[in-house]
Amino acid sequence: MTLPDPRTTELAQHLGAVRERIETAMAARQASTVADAAAAPPTLIVVTKFHPAADVLRLRSLGVADVGENRDQEAAAKAAEVAVTDLRWHFIGQLQSNKAKSVVGYAHSVHSIDRVSVATALGKAMARQQETDGRADLQCFIQVELTDPYASLAAEGHDVPAGPSGRGGASPSSVLQLAEHIAGTPGLMLAGVMGVAPLGVTPGPAFELLANVSAQLRSTHPGATGISAGMSHDLEAALAAGATHLRVGSDILGPRPAVL
Ligand SMILES: *Cc1c(COP(=O)(O)O)cnc(C)c1O
Repeated sequence: MTLPDPRTTELAQHLGAVRERIETAMAARQASTVADAAAAPPTLIVVTKFHPAADVLRLRSLGVADVGENRDQEAAAKAAEVAVTDLRWHFIGQLQSNKAKSVVGYAHSVHSIDRVSVATALGKAMARQQETDGRADLQCFIQVELTDPYASLAAEGHDVPAGPSGRGGASPSSVLQLAEHIAGTPGLMLAGVMGVAPLGVTPGPAFELLANVSAQLRSTHPGATGISAGMSHDLEAALAAGATHLRVGSDILGPRPAVL
């Protein structure tokens, strides 16, 4: 028997610390009367962008089943290099329609659908892919722009910047229309909503808005229960607001290079 390499030991420690934070936050959520206390533990997606395929394999040996990537070129190469079939790859970055064909070749889900044209491209790509290899439907999250609450808070005199820069996504009012389009496209499965809290502000209001958009969506699409929210620095706030999927990178893998 060989000892684990130092990097595996480090990843195991970081992963353990994040799992503990999730347990603590889930215990708080179940004790609260505010959230509807969804009992199921969230899906932890470990974001491996900028880190090598070897780290993905180390994470898998530590029981990680879900990994996230935000750029198609890097993700496609890594998925090919790792070449294990029991990992789920989640595409979480901005997506251009011309990458749809590549993305459906490896991705279990896309979290960043923000417009009809991207959904259409994914649907076309899935039709071909399913004909070729019969793959399962693509799980689709609608990314929602979450800056709205901060403008209102600033207008009410709270100490928040009036226009925190958005992190992308469809406007909350356009989500239902986009959802109809996804739900009506063969090969695409409407999974829920996704959001990234604006930088430099307390994330609570953003995640509350996301939870409200999710509730509205579920009233017409009861199966779309996913709420993908929460990263290294705000996973507690996201879980308090009902997150079902977390996307955690740097607190597990360490810092990414600051400049590409
Ligand atoms: C990089 C990234 C994450 C992970 O961020 P960390 O702060 O490293 O945990 C989550 N979501 C998206 C969309 C990302 O691009």
